[in-house]
Amino acid sequence: EHLRPDGGRAITIAIGNFKGGVSKTTTAMVLAQGLSLRGHRVLAIDADPQGSLTTLFGIMPDTEVTEQQTIAPLVYGDTTSIRSSIQPTYWDGVDLVAASSTLFSAEFVLPSRQMKDPEFQFWDVINLGLEDVRDEYDVIIIDTPPSLSYVTINAFMAADALIVPLPPNALDFASSAQFWSLFSDLASNLVENAGISKTFDFIHVLLARVDSADVASDVVRSWIAATYAEKVLPVEIPKTAVTSSSSAEFGTVYDINRYEGSAKTYARARDAYDRVIDLVEASIRNSWLNQ
Ligand code: ADP
Ligand code: MG
Repeated sequence: EHLRPDGGRAITIAIGNFKGGVSKTTTAMVLAQGLSLRGHRVLAIDADPQGSLTTLFGIMPDTEVTEQQTIAPLVYGDTTSIRSSIQPTYWDGVDLVAASSTLFSAEFVLPSRQMKDPEFQFWDVINLGLEDVRDEYDVIIIDTPPSLSYVTINAFMAADALIVPLPPNALDFASSAQFWSLFSDLASNLVENAGISKTFDFIHVLLARVDSADVASDVVRSWIAATYAEKVLPVEIPKTAVTSSSSAEFGTVYDINRYEGSAKTYARARDAYDRVIDLVEASIRNSWLNQ
């Protein structure tokens, strides 16, 4: 028994922001877990050569990931399907395409393939690679690197939806504005040069790592609301110790059901993420209806 309608295909969500440290990878992990807890079959794709999402799954990018287990074979053109790169994870219901530093080479390989073969569409490698598995998952989540790289462009072009984690502080807000202008430049370039037009079923801006002690964040929050309007999800992820220690021993809020530091802190973080999953799940169902 599956949640998506008959004939429906996986909704692919890219987690993106060209800034590092804004909670992209944490968001990708929590979404994967939270959606799978509600019965969705999830494929998580780590498209960041730093392999942080892979690490959160307990797999060490430098020593435990082969090139075959990443998107590298797609990038090199050794395969046209992502299937052979997929591995199961400790988390039931979530499969993973891992990442390692081997993916740094994608930034040279993709443009050089394009140079050798003008027909080669450098932005479409992940999208085409997913085609083979889109009817086997409900949701595909792609964690992206903090840059407008060839791999990031691929992730966005493969995605039906975009989630942009954004802490409400001035510098992160400023770089998010840059994110949108770079991305729309890129999109209009592809439209002009290749006849591609890219739209998303939904774009959510997620206020993440919100520090309640930071008085400046109220001001920035109002800038964000004015700029992104209804794209901003009506929930904030607090900055909590329970989340920051997730990469170490505790796991995410979905791996643990209590936090030794403070039960209240744990409940606050857990409730916020549950609410995000509610909202994202509603958007996913809506996308299925419009498929
Ligand atoms: P990105 O992928 O954007 O670089 P990460 O998800 O890796 O961001 O988060 C960067 C750091 O911030 C990590 O150490 C992570 O554990 C921490 N972090 C993320 N979200 C929160 C939060 N809500 N509260 C506290 N720390 C957080
Ligand atoms: Mg990351």
